[in-house]
Amino acid sequence: MPSPTIGVFALQGDVREHLRVLADLGVQAFGVRRPVELDACDAMIVPGGESTTMAKLARTFDLFEPLQKRIRAGMPTFGTCAGMIMLADRIEDGAVGQETLGGLDITVRRNAFGRQVDSFEGDLDVDGLDAPVHAVFIRAPWVEGVGDRVEVLARVGDGPAAGRIVAVRQGPLMATSFHPEVGGDSRIHRLFVDLVRTA
Ligand code: GLN
Repeated sequence: MPSPTIGVFALQGDVREHLRVLADLGVQAFGVRRPVELDACDAMIVPGGESTTMAKLARTFDLFEPLQKRIRAGMPTFGTCAGMIMLADRIEDGAVGQETLGGLDITVRRNAFGRQVDSFEGDLDVDGLDAPVHAVFIRAPWVEGVGDRVEVLARVGDGPAAGRIVAVRQGPLMATSFHPEVGGDSRIHRLFVDLVRTA
């Protein structure tokens, strides 16, 4: 796919920041709120925000099933933070009855880093990148467990959460616990765009 169009799930979450990074990379992108908009894109980003609200709004606006269908059919999709939760097949500490779109054979733990460290930043080595990424975590999940087909792209380097998985890829699906759309570093988005181009 030489010049893909990437949609950003836009019913809730930090949509604008993702659109800005994609624009900086010269990628055509727009917010997706309706099934017709989903039909017009080759790939999707599900941003950070609040995963329970995202799932509910996706149901309300009839986007949940069409999006789930596209993901199952192999549409490249990148989830960040709440978006990672949305792409996970299994959640620990989810809200009662919390639904996800699924697709990634991972178990995520919601709000995993705990109340005292609601938000923190740190440098992470990410597979496929030469220099570390400065990662911003905001009430972030971590990946508690992964299936055989999941590739681990990054783990927390030090501190109480050292070793926890915070970035993964499985075929055309990618997810990070942190927010690569803040901080002015577009390399993680570039990894996703490369994934979309080769999909
Ligand atoms: N804690 C949020 C959730 O459960 C995710 C936070 C975020 O996306 N920054 O959905």
